[in-house]
Amino acid sequence: MIKNPSDFKGQTAVVTGGAGFVASHLIDRLLADGLKVVALDNFVTGTPDNLAHLDGHPDFRFLEHDVSKPYAIDGEVAFVLHMASPASPIDYVEIPVETLKAGSDASHHALDLAREKGATYLVASTSEVYGDPEVHPQPETYWGNVNSIGVRSCYDEAKRYAEAAAMAYHRAYGLDTKIVRIFNTYGPRMRLDDGRVVPAFIGQALRGEPMTVFGDGRQTRSFCYVSDLVDGIWRLARSSFHEPVNCGNPHEMSIREFAEAIARICEVELTIEDRPLPPDDPKIRKPDITRAKEILGWEPQVGFEEGIRETIDYFKGVLAPA
Ligand code: NAD
Ligand code: UDP
Repeated sequence: MIKNPSDFKGQTAVVTGGAGFVASHLIDRLLADGLKVVALDNFVTGTPDNLAHLDGHPDFRFLEHDVSKPYAIDGEVAFVLHMASPASPIDYVEIPVETLKAGSDASHHALDLAREKGATYLVASTSEVYGDPEVHPQPETYWGNVNSIGVRSCYDEAKRYAEAAAMAYHRAYGLDTKIVRIFNTYGPRMRLDDGRVVPAFIGQALRGEPMTVFGDGRQTRSFCYVSDLVDGIWRLARSSFHEPVNCGNPHEMSIREFAEAIARICEVELTIEDRPLPPDDPKIRKPDITRAKEILGWEPQVGFEEGIRETIDYFKGVLAPA
């Protein structure tokens, strides 16, 4: 059963990583549904610009803080939504220790806060828990194929730990916990230079540069628009389900096909700069969303072309001379 958003009107959600891409959209949704929001962020990969439109909002409060370190929140809290973590491969390879702590120490602080307040806890996990998958598409029942000492392990293993921590608090303390496994999500407010393929290719197309395709470009991803993801996260938070749920768009394409689509939509000629494939880059990825459909009544609504056009318009604004 999924509760109505109106059941939580006037109640407070604490959102870690609130200045990030996904969490800033989630905050907009929570405020639109009448909740109060306390966001925490240390801007390690996020930016105050993502929250600037909320300056002076009566139901919004921001605390600049590293959530891997302890913190306290006054008053009653209905939800603790732990979204903080570097999320782009170039970010987390550069700051592996901070990334490990975002999944480990920061999970404990957020879980302890939820426990103290009797709140529902939700953690942003990832398709990376499946590693370089040997099962396709990936259902939640697949345990994954992760290199525990590779360059991506700081992220993958931190998220696997974060999931284990949520389940341990659920089993040991009866905490109401949720785990969302997010698959590649894109949209406005991504950082143009965060290295992920969506901002990378759009930025390159808009600047008239060649697109940097890693490896032979035959590796696949399935891209989900951010409003769809936010809807899935918010439904999961209001559900009574404790096991992991995949949220992503099953529309799978190769990275080469993705480059072609961006060139076509941006109306530029496709030129490619070959780059080596980073170690442990998953060869295939596509969510099995049967569980999300059954438990949450959720599936993506925004088509690839529509979502990409919105995102391109946003990046055009970012690149436009002031
Ligand atoms: P993002 O980098 O835009 O947002 C992460 C935010 O967390 C940033 O604002 C960053 O400054 C903040 N943060 C990181 N460590 C922190 C700390 N110790 N203290 C306080 N703030 C901290 O990335 P995103 O794409 O918005 O990702 C949000 C969440 O979703 C992350 O947990 C990520 O792992 C998960 N996720 C995202 C995707 C995706 O495709 N976008 C896929 C899988 C999982
Ligand atoms: N990629 C690419 N060129 C880039 C950035 C990424 O070819 O400039 C590839 C990358 O190797 C991966 C896919 O695009 O196979 C998605 O990469 P991203 O960093 O967006 O997310 P990931 O799914 O790897 O976490």
